[in-house]
Amino acid sequence: MKTIDIRKVRRDFPNLRVKVHGKPLVYFDNAATTFKPRPVIEAVAGYYQEYTSNVHRGIHELSEKATAAYEGARDKVQQFLNARGSKEIIFTRGTTESINLVAYSYGRHFLKSGDEILISEMEHHSNIVPWQMLCEEKGCVLKVIPFNDQGELSYEEFEKLLTAKTRLLSIVYISNSLGTVNPVKKMIKAAHGRGALVLVDAAQAVSHRAIDVQDLDCDFLAFSGHKLFGPTGTGVLYGKAQLLDAMPPFHGGGDMISSVTFQKTTYAALPYKFEAGTPHVAGVIGLGAAVDYVLSVGFNAIEGYEQKLLEYGTKALSAVPGLKLIGTAKEKVSILSFVLPNAHAHDIGTLVNDEGVAIRTGHHCTQPVMKHFGVPATSRASLTFYNTAEEIDALVKALRKVREVFS
Ligand code: PLP
Repeated sequence: MKTIDIRKVRRDFPNLRVKVHGKPLVYFDNAATTFKPRPVIEAVAGYYQEYTSNVHRGIHELSEKATAAYEGARDKVQQFLNARGSKEIIFTRGTTESINLVAYSYGRHFLKSGDEILISEMEHHSNIVPWQMLCEEKGCVLKVIPFNDQGELSYEEFEKLLTAKTRLLSIVYISNSLGTVNPVKKMIKAAHGRGALVLVDAAQAVSHRAIDVQDLDCDFLAFSGHKLFGPTGTGVLYGKAQLLDAMPPFHGGGDMISSVTFQKTTYAALPYKFEAGTPHVAGVIGLGAAVDYVLSVGFNAIEGYEQKLLEYGTKALSAVPGLKLIGTAKEKVSILSFVLPNAHAHDIGTLVNDEGVAIRTGHHCTQPVMKHFGVPATSRASLTFYNTAEEIDALVKALRKVREVFS
């Protein structure tokens, strides 16, 4: 079985060499965005240095090269997700835009007053607000699956909330503020049994787990390139071809048309119907390189390594007096949210930053999760496969200093 060669992996990420306040940086904000390995940086720079040009528009050498690289990235993402075809891969600006695309195009065209949309209490705001906006406009009803104090969804409640009126389940695969891994495959099967479609928010899952959309049988799946070691401003919406075909375009403009007259415009075939205007060519090429990179490390190795880090981190943080972990699901990834008595998360974040440790503090765009636990904010250390147990020790040491300040 493949394992992580941590020295080699760390050499691949130039950003890890940065010092903060004269101390080696410990970067534990990977759920917000990940660092980029050298091949990604080189792929982006290579496009700008050697073949900058627009895609799908020119027959000159550079445009052909850029188009081949851009479409090559689509094929890589198709294989990465095991989609049936590359026309099922739509490039977007990120998870947020992918979800909005479904809400605007599918939601506004196919849903009507009284239809129910099911989400969960642990969704990121980007999987709440687009549905609320849709419900306001169309009179649909938003239903919410609760979770328990470990941060595990109540499957019983889910089954009760799933009714003949449910038209869409939009569910997070892995929670960004709790680390919980939801049983999405089982939920998809149950939702399909009731005739509902399912969108999976894989923003966090994509860097922790191999994803097979055919095995999951989800109807849509969204992720962001920047959380998969790729460039910011890139993202993917996977959708089953027959659904995407039936959906109207989201944005109108160049590249998404077949023909335009003032009387009538006809639209391009998939996937271009959903990619109006000049896309983020460099970013998508970088995303293709990110996919290659992650696969070269291997998800078996990533999962095994991260689970050990999670176990080590859970023990080490739990040993800090007074520290309470928020999110202790049996099935979880290396995301450690916590609170410390008498210390506000922002103060914790500032003080550990003085020690060179970057964590996230706040509500993590999941205000309902904070409400569930009765806290305004948490501190969150989100780890990936380039992090180490020594870095966790550095965080723990910094937290002990925080305790001294606040006790
Ligand atoms: N969904 C989850 C679970 C997330 O963690 C995030 C970002 O943190 C998003 C959606 C939104 O992603 P983006 O801001 O890249 O669109």
